[in-house]
Amino acid sequence: MLLWFRNDLRSHDNPALQYFLKNNTCNTPLKAVFFISEPQWLLHDWSTIKIDFIKRHAAALVEELAPFNIKLDLVNVDSFGDQIAYLRALCEQEGFQEIVANSEVEFNEQQRDNAIVNLGIKLTLFEADVIVPKGKVLNLSHQMYKVFTPFKRAWLTYVKQHGFDYLGKLQSTSQASLSPTVQSPDSISAHWPLVHEVEKHVLPLFFAEKISDYHDQRDIPSIKGTSGLSPYLAAGVISPRYVLMSLINAYPDILIASDSEEFSWLNEIIWREFYRNLMFHEQRLCKHQCFNEKYQAVAWHYNDALFDAWCQGKTGYPLVDAAMRQLNQTGWMHNRLRMVVASFLTKHLLIDWRLGEKYFMSRLIDGDLASNNGGWQWAASTGCDAQPYFRIFNPIRQSERFDPKGYFIRKYLPELASVPDKNIHFPHTLIEKNKLNIYWPPVVDHKEARLKALAFYKV
Ligand SMILES: Cc1cc2nc3c(=O)[nH]c(=O)nc-3n(C[C@H](O)[C@H](O)[C@H](O)COP(=O)(O)OP(=O)(O)OC[C@H]3O[C@@H](n4cnc5c(N)ncnc54)[C@H](O)[C@@H]3O)c2cc1C
Repeated sequence: MLLWFRNDLRSHDNPALQYFLKNNTCNTPLKAVFFISEPQWLLHDWSTIKIDFIKRHAAALVEELAPFNIKLDLVNVDSFGDQIAYLRALCEQEGFQEIVANSEVEFNEQQRDNAIVNLGIKLTLFEADVIVPKGKVLNLSHQMYKVFTPFKRAWLTYVKQHGFDYLGKLQSTSQASLSPTVQSPDSISAHWPLVHEVEKHVLPLFFAEKISDYHDQRDIPSIKGTSGLSPYLAAGVISPRYVLMSLINAYPDILIASDSEEFSWLNEIIWREFYRNLMFHEQRLCKHQCFNEKYQAVAWHYNDALFDAWCQGKTGYPLVDAAMRQLNQTGWMHNRLRMVVASFLTKHLLIDWRLGEKYFMSRLIDGDLASNNGGWQWAASTGCDAQPYFRIFNPIRQSERFDPKGYFIRKYLPELASVPDKNIHFPHTLIEKNKLNIYWPPVVDHKEARLKALAFYKV
């Protein structure tokens, strides 16, 4: 039997790994494989920081699995086609009768798996990317919910009734440490520690010190008020079931305390489940289609100069520009700002949301097809349970509300360091008055752009 790691590079709560260990009687080192397929990943627009983060975790897992008599090979191949050819040859050479892995929800990945099965290879799949198995939370007509809140209620009912299958950590019989020693201080993702550190320190600290203020602080980009778990969940190196188990251990009433501060955080974890379920039910979301088909015919604008200004943080709207520079410099962007910049691109600039989705994917360390697509379609009003099209974020008002003193703006736009707080959200009047040449003029006028967007969407 061969174990195949994909978007689940972890030993903790990994159903395929546990099945593999239980059903393998061989004494020689057990064999596992992980494909490093950079050209394929780049075709999927993965960012270099995400790729680096995954490679670090793959190297750490090699060490971590050794005490379990598992030899994990990291194999460089270009494409999914090459992965199939490699597996076929390996099964023939080594006589493997079965490959075991955890399923992936995305279309291309499923096509690849189907091709393997069509070769006559037994592929046993488990589910490791969600808390409640996908397809279990359905409405009374046995359809996927189209709105988040009823999905959330049904999801909670399901968890209360059925619990969830948390498998726990692997127990090593050897003396070897389960925490890998791999160090990579120079890597571009080094700011993000390996997942063991997150499980041991970051998550417990978040539960002890931050989660109670999450509801109030989660929208303030100058504060580190959120968990920072997204790169780990997106790469599958942490288990969502472990995350919920830890939350329940810290707050035993969480599933019924829907008014609590802590529940606001669980709410976000359920958004993630919602988007993964949507993708599971609607594979066309993997193919660049609008969830709401009536928006499929929208005549988006394709203006390279405006798109470049947005990408580079040169729109003349400080909160939008600071957010885009945060993304470009760090590979991560605060959730409130993701909503603001996505709204700006689609509603102020009327540019196709798919260009924004692609750009995010190519920069984010936590790029995840389901959540990214869901977030973009929400902001562009083309999605499931999306923001109605007539709700258009005012980037100046958002800035006044969520960065009132301009701390975040000044961090990423040092050229505005000396601008007083009252002008920081839209410094142009001051700049013109004093004939300063420190910042970009606004690429569009907010009021005009808003009226144009309303007319545009109505058509
Ligand atoms: C336009 C847009 C694009 C996005 N692209 C991605 C993406 O590619 N990958 C990604 O993981 N998230 C994406 N999000 C969701 C969200 O912005 C990030 O998950 C969040 O900022 C991560 O920070 P955190 O881990 O500190 O989150 P926390 O606030 O601590 O939340 C905990 C976890 O809940 C999940 N979560 C939180 N908010 C959302 C949400 N709105 N939708 C789905 N899951 C959520 C994440 O897994 C997150 O790690 C996007 C949102 C928008 C509006």
